[in-house]
Amino acid sequence: MKQLRRRILLFFLILFGAFSIIFYYISSNTFIQQAMDQQGEDLQAQLLTLQSQVDGRVETQEDLPELNESLEETSALISERITLINLSGKVIFDSHVDQTSIENHFDRPEFQEVLEGEEIGTYDRVSSSTDDFRYYAAVPLQNTSGEQIGILRLSKKVEEMIGITDEIVRYLLVFITISLILTMLFTFYWTKRIGDPIEEIKFVANKLSQQKYKVRYKSTSYQEIDGLGQTVNELAGSLESQMQEIKQNDKRLRELINHLVIGVMLLDENRQITMVNPIMNEILEENLYGKIGHSYLEVFKSFGLNQLIEAAYEKQELQNREIALLIQDEKIVDVNIVPIPGRMKNTTNYIVLLYDITEIRRLEKVRTDFVANASHELRTPITALKGFSETLLDGALEDREVLIEFLEIMLKESSRLDLMVQDILQLSKLEQKQVRLNVEAIEAKVIVKEVFQILQQKAELKNIELSIEYDEPVYLEVDHDQLKQIILNLVGNAVSYTPENGIVKVELGYDNQEAVIKVVDNGIGIPQEEQSRVFERFYRVDKARSRNAGGTGLGLSIVKYLVENLNGFIELNSELGKGTSFEIHLPIKFENKQLTQK
Ligand code: ADP
Repeated sequence: MKQLRRRILLFFLILFGAFSIIFYYISSNTFIQQAMDQQGEDLQAQLLTLQSQVDGRVETQEDLPELNESLEETSALISERITLINLSGKVIFDSHVDQTSIENHFDRPEFQEVLEGEEIGTYDRVSSSTDDFRYYAAVPLQNTSGEQIGILRLSKKVEEMIGITDEIVRYLLVFITISLILTMLFTFYWTKRIGDPIEEIKFVANKLSQQKYKVRYKSTSYQEIDGLGQTVNELAGSLESQMQEIKQNDKRLRELINHLVIGVMLLDENRQITMVNPIMNEILEENLYGKIGHSYLEVFKSFGLNQLIEAAYEKQELQNREIALLIQDEKIVDVNIVPIPGRMKNTTNYIVLLYDITEIRRLEKVRTDFVANASHELRTPITALKGFSETLLDGALEDREVLIEFLEIMLKESSRLDLMVQDILQLSKLEQKQVRLNVEAIEAKVIVKEVFQILQQKAELKNIELSIEYDEPVYLEVDHDQLKQIILNLVGNAVSYTPENGIVKVELGYDNQEAVIKVVDNGIGIPQEEQSRVFERFYRVDKARSRNAGGTGLGLSIVKYLVENLNGFIELNSELGKGTSFEIHLPIKFENKQLTQK
């Protein structure tokens, strides 16, 4: 913009300068010419008057010097130079120069003109006698009989002739110079008044193009320029709010993608990774942020997955398949490859979505296994019941002893069936979250005593001593029924798997913010290699012994489920032949995240 201002200034300077020079040249010439004409005419009139005074006063050329005196007198009165010349060009008299030193004037143009018959001969030139620029006027001098005997000449300095004009021209020059300066000042002010706001608008537009949206036009200038400035301001405002919206949407989208439970990866048209979310890192158990800009082949090592991605690139269509990935362990993922338009025209990018369904599939398997196991477990008592009742109907009914024995077996089997159905129902209720938690502050000892009451008879039958040990009363916030069920199952097992005269002990205490309930027995123990499996459904170390003890194989899985449901954990320590201890840790203060669950 400064350049524009400079250009406008230069343009005006050249234009005005050229006009001024032309104007100055024409007007000064006109003035000078007019002054010259005027002064020339005056000089000629003066010459004619002088001519009339001396004409006819001498008769011959030789007499011409007689006029010298009279001419001398006249020259004393006027400033003009008077020259008297004879017809051969010799100067007879000169008022300003000594005539003896003057060269012959025959070749002077004004002299020649008169000789050629002109009434007045004129010329302007630099005088060789006085060495100044002069205007000359010459007239013939005649005797009484009208013969030409000499030439009378008047001359004046051109400088004197145009003296007054010179001053006018000087004024003209001063006037032109002042006008030029004023014009320049005005042009400078005017270009600044227009240029600066335009400069500011340009600055604002530049900042907008650099995505800096806070900047605004603030100057005041001509209405039209201010209007343009306001429009730029409105544009900036609208861009700013649009940008904010875009940023907010971008942030929301990023948050959404980062918190998705699905792994997301964006691939460009060259199969390079342009974005990943944290879950994708988790699923692939690798930090993929360093792989951005690399080919997806460096990341996915599964042939099936790569094949699916390639199929998507080839067909440019959505692809979906369940694929098993071998990372540390096997992971089952639901893969979706979704084509989306790329940044560049006519290109396609792909979103790879991985949904880790390993846990879902595992649970499904657990459920189907459970159904299979449950059916199998139920079959045993049902088969027994069926077999015995058929045998009875086939005639054994008649033998009273056999009848009683069979009916006792049938009662035992139906009780087992009942127990098993109850356990299955309880597990399924727990799994479907149908059990409401009634959390209350409880002293653990109270529940242990309730359990001892239930199991007292069973323990006495084997002469097993049930005891509680604690240093201080242990209080905790817990669901009464669930804690009772947990302790009942554990103490029940301890009694079942401890030989006669054994000891079953419940120890109560605190560990940090947790209540610790330890059920210890000195029974048969659990072999090391089986210890991790006893919490599985229907898993029993010794099937026959468990069945004899009235076990269903579901007791510990219910315990584990309940403990975890109460935000706790369970630990098992056992040595074969020496005894077993189950240690439960439960929070003293129950975090009520599960309170609402049904
Ligand atoms: P069950 O109804 O057969 O007792 P559980 O799920 O309660 O089923 O226990 C699973 C298996 O763990 C039992 O079959 C038994 O072999 C073993 N077990 C549980 N508690 C004890 C214990 N205190 N001492 C020895 N073995 C035990």
